[in-house]
Amino acid sequence: MPDHKSIAPLVHGPYIGQRVRAGVFGTRGGPVINENAQIVTFENEPIPGLYGAGNVIAHPLVTAYPGGGGTLGPCVVFGHVAGKSITAAAGN
Ligand SMILES: Cc1cc2nc3c(=O)[nH]c(=O)nc-3n(C[C@H](O)[C@H](O)[C@H](O)COP(=O)(O)OP(=O)(O)OC[C@H]3O[C@@H](n4cnc5c(N)ncnc54)[C@H](O)[C@@H]3O)c2cc1C
Repeated sequence: MPDHKSIAPLVHGPYIGQRVRAGVFGTRGGPVINENAQIVTFENEPIPGLYGAGNVIAHPLVTAYPGGGGTLGPCVVFGHVAGKSITAAAGN
């Protein structure tokens, strides 16, 4: 094996494996929502029946990340708002 600082043979076990998976921290693009969690057009008009929250929408704080919870907070809040908007639109 060629001499390399980052690569070495595994000779002394046992070894512990750890699965590494990709995750999404937040999005900066994507559909924009209004205060009712309705996805809006480029003209800021709500698209009937289309709601969004979390990582599938453009983040409500745009490029800001104010601290821990800065992405989970809006995700949970606008998920709740979307649910309320949908039940209100359904007349419940
Ligand atoms: C390493 C890491 C650390 C983080 N730390 C913080 C933190 O400290 N504070 C904070 O506020 N935020 C943090 N975040 C960001 C936060 O976790 C996300 O913003 C939040 O989980 C987004 O929620 P979501 O419901 O929109 O998406 P997700 O939590 O990604 O949920 C989407 C779900 O949809 C499922 N799915 C995808 N495709 C399909 C399909 N075709 N059919 C059915 N199901 C599907 C996925 O399996 C997943 O369960 C962190 C993210 C990462 C990756």
